[in-house]
Amino acid sequence: MHNLGKREERGIGKVLIVIDMQNDFVTGTLGNQEAQAIVPNVQAKVKEYADRGDWIILTRDTHEENYLDTPEGKKLPVKHCINGTEGWQIVPELEVENCEYIDKPTFGWLN
Ligand SMILES: [Zn+2]
Repeated sequence: MHNLGKREERGIGKVLIVIDMQNDFVTGTLGNQEAQAIVPNVQAKVKEYADRGDWIILTRDTHEENYLDTPEGKKLPVKHCINGTEGWQIVPELEVENCEYIDKPTFGWLN
């Protein structure tokens, strides 16, 4: 059953944060079948939250053209998620109206 009341009327809803589900990690330079296999599950989750009017945040790993010269590029010398490229975009199935984006310059685990 859907409850499509406005966010204000229901108070603060839940927040879904989808981490770095970008083309390069799924079908691009760092993609693999495991990543592709989870897309339908993530898509179902996003739809569930979107239908309730909850807050959906999509993070994007974001690098510039000089990626290979950065500390991450030295550890992982595979160019990926270059700002503005196709590979940097969120997997199309996961984008919904009113979702928000957070661009982050590096992986936390490399700090
Ligand atoms: Zn990266």
